[in-house]
Amino acid sequence: MGIKGIIFDMDGTLTLANVDLVAVNREIGIPDSEPILEYLDKQGEPRRSEGLKVLEKFETRAAETSKLNDGVVDVLEHVREKGIKTALLTRNSRRSVEILLKRHKLHFDVVVTREDAPPKPSPSPVKLIGEKLGIDPKDLLMVGDVHFDIFSGKAAGTKTALLCMGRKLGVVEQTADYRLDSLSELIDIINNSGEGW
Ligand SMILES: [Mg+2]
Repeated sequence: MGIKGIIFDMDGTLTLANVDLVAVNREIGIPDSEPILEYLDKQGEPRRSEGLKVLEKFETRAAETSKLNDGVVDVLEHVREKGIKTALLTRNSRRSVEILLKRHKLHFDVVVTREDAPPKPSPSPVKLIGEKLGIDPKDLLMVGDVHFDIFSGKAAGTKTALLCMGRKLGVVEQTADYRLDSLSELIDIINNSGEGW
């Protein structure tokens, strides 16, 4: 038995990344070098809540105009044919995810957002998905386009696939178990995942 479940990141993996993070940072007043959720977590109220509201506004707008990445529909169809469970894991808000799923008529067995667990790169949301699916992390594959995805999966004990799409991502490329140039490459990985994949 190979892969039992696949966890997909949303922005930049299922969809072309289109949240304008520079504009979010500018509107809230966050230094560009700092990840937004981690920065806001360190702020007192009402700054934290107000910042999250701004972020959600941008995420919602991005979801309403989102475009699917190449290969998503084919890969999800293949995954389902193989009886492999699916999960969506994102640092975004649940509201933006619901808009996006409806827009593209996508369905996942489990959806975990920042309202459900500490965000990636924490292993917590990946472990939560494993529990909800009833699948041991070692039988899961985490697919994402940035280091947060890979570190979160690794720390929880999953296999990991980094979607590079021609980008050079440095050391995280060696950390990931698989390096993908397109999502469609997942189909071969699934087909070749036998015992001890
Ligand atoms: Mg991403």
